[in-house]
Amino acid sequence: MFVAAAAVAVIQATGSDDAPAQAALEADQAETMEQQAAEQSQSQPQAEAQPAAQTDEQQHTVEAPSDQAQAQAQDAQQQQAPAQSESEADDPADDPLRGFIVPIADACISQHEGHLPGANRAYRNDGVHEGLDFYEWASCVVIDEFTPILAAKDGLVIRADLNYVDITPDDWARFEAANWAGEEILDELRGRQVYIDHGRGIVTRYAHLSAIAQGVAVGARVQQGQIIGFPGESGQREVYTDENDVHLHFEIRVGDGWLGQGQSPQQARQLYLHAFGLPDE
Ligand SMILES: [Zn+2]
Repeated sequence: MFVAAAAVAVIQATGSDDAPAQAALEADQAETMEQQAAEQSQSQPQAEAQPAAQTDEQQHTVEAPSDQAQAQAQDAQQQQAPAQSESEADDPADDPLRGFIVPIADACISQHEGHLPGANRAYRNDGVHEGLDFYEWASCVVIDEFTPILAAKDGLVIRADLNYVDITPDDWARFEAANWAGEEILDELRGRQVYIDHGRGIVTRYAHLSAIAQGVAVGARVQQGQIIGFPGESGQREVYTDENDVHLHFEIRVGDGWLGQGQSPQQARQLYLHAFGLPDE
């Protein structure tokens, strides 16, 4: 719940030497037990050494994109190759996968594997994480329900869940009974969402929002940097518990797939750095 989010923010703001560790600890505590188990295992070297390809194979059991979708995604990414050999290759306007801004001002891109595209979600029927998570403890800035979420690029709003209703314990039991299978449940787990269409098959998704900014509705045009909403924990069980899971889940969709699909989390991270115009790390 948001009370816990505020508590974390206060700890961050005090600036004592151990505040980041404390905040991280609180954030960890706030996550579900399943998430804790998954992330703890990821922090161990043995787990990180797992070959990404093997993980990707498993991940396709949940949200297996069709061959056609994968081909479309690859086509969209391959379209960049010829463009980069032309003289205007550095112009972000010519490359649909460049020219984005980080959707939270001054945030860094998490190094935490569980926050990256391609990360395995073993506790969700071996699902795969399709985007980037921005949690306060891993993103260099305060992230709470008052932090503006910015449109990553100019575009057209094609989804805005203005009449969203929070999930309940009964919903969570239904997700568990279904073993997290099916696109409908995955959509419910993303909570209150906004989608922005940037043309040429590129859509950005903003998930788990606590609120959507005024004027953001289907059919509205938004400018890069415009406030479109605020982080929350909608779609997560923390929304009805005392725990805190406030964060932004952000995706760059490419056709029917997503940026970094089929790549390791670290490779996907590099693609996002490029999309944001940030230097390689
Ligand atoms: Zn996420």
